[in-house]
Amino acid sequence: MTIETLTSLKLSFFILGFILFFFLETKYSNRAWKTRRYKRLLFHSAVALINTVIMRLPVLFILMPMLLLVTENQFGLLYLVADYNILKFIMSFLILDIAMYWWHRFNHKNQFLWRFHFVHHVDTHMDVGTSLRFHIGELILSTLYKSVIILFFGISLAEFLFYEIILVLSIQFHHSNIRINEKFDASLSKFIVTPKYHTNHHTRVRKSREANYASIFTIWDKIFLSYEDATDADREVMGLENREIELNLIDNLYHPFNKKVDSD
Ligand SMILES: [Zn+2]
Ligand SMILES: [Zn+2]
Repeated sequence: MTIETLTSLKLSFFILGFILFFFLETKYSNRAWKTRRYKRLLFHSAVALINTVIMRLPVLFILMPMLLLVTENQFGLLYLVADYNILKFIMSFLILDIAMYWWHRFNHKNQFLWRFHFVHHVDTHMDVGTSLRFHIGELILSTLYKSVIILFFGISLAEFLFYEIILVLSIQFHHSNIRINEKFDASLSKFIVTPKYHTNHHTRVRKSREANYASIFTIWDKIFLSYEDATDADREVMGLENREIELNLIDNLYHPFNKKVDSD
């Protein structure tokens, strides 16, 4: 398979997942939308469009060369432990998920990174559109971070793309505004991040917002002691102190460089 086929495979899953979760949250919505849905969709689609166009460059010139270098030369730590087999595949998946957990945690703890990640959290609602809401700066920086992980551990192209497809679907799922049976959610969130679990991370209340960093598997929050349940009342108020710039594209793009606006 060529790189083009593989990346278009990821794009297909991304589009199909988005349509699926959009349909599900329309039919089985959990919270009522306070802002017009089309306004949100328009804003988030504009963010996604900008990100998709700009991200072609770091993907083409940094991420892909790194993946090809590792795949062709069987270079990196995991190749020393296991040859290409199912064990290496599983280990790569887990390592990438731990790496994403820490990346997310750094984004909250480091002031510079937080100014970019702020754009994701300033949303006062949460639906599948929120899964598109990332500042281009955060995406570029995370691509650099992922490239280092790929090179150090020896993550192959297939392993990386498989993880990315599951990650995209997980991010769409846990941001979506789907009503899920309480008991089922409680069992599911023992293993993977559910919408309720991730709502805890989007609360205005700091205690649960600066916790619950998992992307796919929730076990990392337990292992690294960052699991924090929120109350139903806390989950009612999402977003940050700043309630103004939520759907303003220019303000969001400029935010990391705008020293006048507080990032709390
Ligand atoms: Zn976050
Ligand atoms: Zn989120």
